[in-house]
Amino acid sequence: MKIGFIGLGNMGAPMAANLARAGHEVTGFDMAEVSIEGVAMAASAAEAAKGAEVVITMLPNGQILRAVAAEIIPAMDKGAAFVDCSTVDVDSARAVADQAEAAGLLAVDAPVSGGVGGATAGTLTFMAGGSEAAFAKAAPLFDIMGQKAVHCGAAGAGQAAKICNNMILGATMIVTCEAFALADKLGLDRQKMFDVVSTSSGYSWTMNAYCPAPGVGPQSPADNDYKPGFAAELMLKDLRLSQQAAESADADTPMGALAQQLYTQFVEQEDGKGMDFSAMLPRFEKRHRG
Ligand code: NAD
Repeated sequence: MKIGFIGLGNMGAPMAANLARAGHEVTGFDMAEVSIEGVAMAASAAEAAKGAEVVITMLPNGQILRAVAAEIIPAMDKGAAFVDCSTVDVDSARAVADQAEAAGLLAVDAPVSGGVGGATAGTLTFMAGGSEAAFAKAAPLFDIMGQKAVHCGAAGAGQAAKICNNMILGATMIVTCEAFALADKLGLDRQKMFDVVSTSSGYSWTMNAYCPAPGVGPQSPADNDYKPGFAAELMLKDLRLSQQAAESADADTPMGALAQQLYTQFVEQEDGKGMDFSAMLPRFEKRHRG
C-alpha cells in the first residue's frame, strides 16, 4: 500500500519503520530533519499525502493536527483514508473527520496505548473512531503497528476511549503512590504492601504491572530512577484533555479534576518535569499532612 506518514517523532518514527519493513511504500514528512530506514522523505506534508491510499498523522496536539489536516485534505485522492493516531481533544478529532469526509475521504481517529516500547515492538493498542469502511481500510496497518485494535464507534470515539482510560490511570497512580507513602509512615514493609494489595481488591495496573515503589513488583521506571516510561507531562496533557472533554460534555469528574490539579502542581511547580508519572511516590514521601 502507498502510505503517507506525517509526524515522525518518538512514536511516529518506529511506527513508520514497521510499516516500511512490512513491505509498504511509505513517504514521510516531519518539520524536523529525520531519516528512517525504508521511508522516503517528502518536502512537505501535502507532498507526503499526495497519491497515498492511507495517510497517518502522529502529531503533538489538536491545534497542529488541524493545521496539518487543512494542508493535506485537499492534496489527498478521493476514497483515501486519513488516520490520525495522535492523542488530541475530541472536538479537534471530530472537526478533522468532518472535513475529511466532506472532501470524500475516509477518516479514523486512532490514538494508541503502549508508548515508545510498543511502537518499536509493533505491539500498540489502537482505539479507533470512524465508519466501518474507514476502520476496515486502516485495520491491516493497525495489525502491523500493533497487537490489538478496537473499533470504539463513530468519529471521536477513539479519543474518548483514550482519555477516559488515562483519566483512570492518572487517578489510580496518585492513590497508589499516596497509599505507599501512608504505608511507610505506618511502618508497613513495601514488599508486604505489594504482596497484599496486588492480590486483594486494591489491585490495579499501576500496582501490579507498573509498581511505583523501586525494587517491588515487576521492573518499572521506579527501578530506573523514575526516568520515563510515560512522562508526567504527557499524563498531564491527557488529564487536561479529559477535563476539556468533561467540560464540553457537561460531565462531573471530580477525581479527574483533582488528578489534573496534582499533576499540574507536580510538573509546573515541583520537580516532576522529565520524570516518569510514577515519581508521584517520592513526591508523597517528602510531604506531610496539611
Ligand atoms: P514527538 O514530539 O516525539 O513527535 C511529534 C513529531 O511531530 C515531532 O517529530 C515534530 O517535529 C512533528 N511535528 C510537529 N508539528 C508538525 C507539523 N506541522 N508537520 C509535521 N510534523 C510536525 O511526540 P510523540 O511522543 O511521538 O507523540 C506523538 C503523539 O502520540 C502525541 O499526541 C502523544 O500524546 C501521543 N502518544 C505518545 C506516547 C508516548 O509515550 N510518547 C504514548 C501514546 C500516545
